[in-house]
Amino acid sequence: MNFTHSPQATLAVPVVNSDKSFPIHRIYCVGRNYEEHAKEMGYTGREAPFFFLKPTDSLIYVANGTTGELPYPSLTQNFHHEIELVVAIGVGGKNIQAQDAEQHIFGYAVGLDMTRRDLQNDMKKQGRPWDIGKSFDLSSPMGPIVEKQAVHDLEQAKIFLSVNGQDRQSSHINKLIWNIHETIEHLSSAWELKAGDLIFTGTPEGVNAVVRGDHLHGYVEGIGSIDLKVI
Ligand code: MN
Repeated sequence: MNFTHSPQATLAVPVVNSDKSFPIHRIYCVGRNYEEHAKEMGYTGREAPFFFLKPTDSLIYVANGTTGELPYPSLTQNFHHEIELVVAIGVGGKNIQAQDAEQHIFGYAVGLDMTRRDLQNDMKKQGRPWDIGKSFDLSSPMGPIVEKQAVHDLEQAKIFLSVNGQDRQSSHINKLIWNIHETIEHLSSAWELKAGDLIFTGTPEGVNAVVRGDHLHGYVEGIGSIDLKVI
């Protein structure tokens, strides 16, 4: 094909214990999906799940055993970490029922939904879109994908993040307000899911700011860990 400029390379994330990589289609995120985080954001109770998207090329892949570089973004004085379980969709579909959702899952990863909280809060106040607070460049670090067959007892898994060795976020996947299958049901009623979609499922309480030089260490038990340095 005769392109006007070079097309962007396909972004793909390696699969653990495999020579394959998982090509990324879209990045969906769930808002306020842990009760204690909803409370710290000033909300209470179980509300219908809501979603936002991040650009696919906001992804930073961090290999196991390495420390990724996370550039401090422009325009913010309040750059927040949100550790999240990421679901990788292997089989697409529309209007998927929760009881059928399992067969659409390829695997899982650990990710961070990095947030320019001051800009997000400004946009919330004004009733404007969140994109400038959420969907900026390099806002979506993640580790490799673990195929679901290799994952056990995910409901009981701990999700955790420390900064410079100090605990910041600590919870369990069973504290999700909308579990993974319910999330897929709601999401696929609004968008047709495709193989290659990622779902960042929401963050537990303890979100806070990082500054240049900080070391982030996060994990989801049974899935893996991620290390980043803010530069
Ligand atoms: Mn989030």
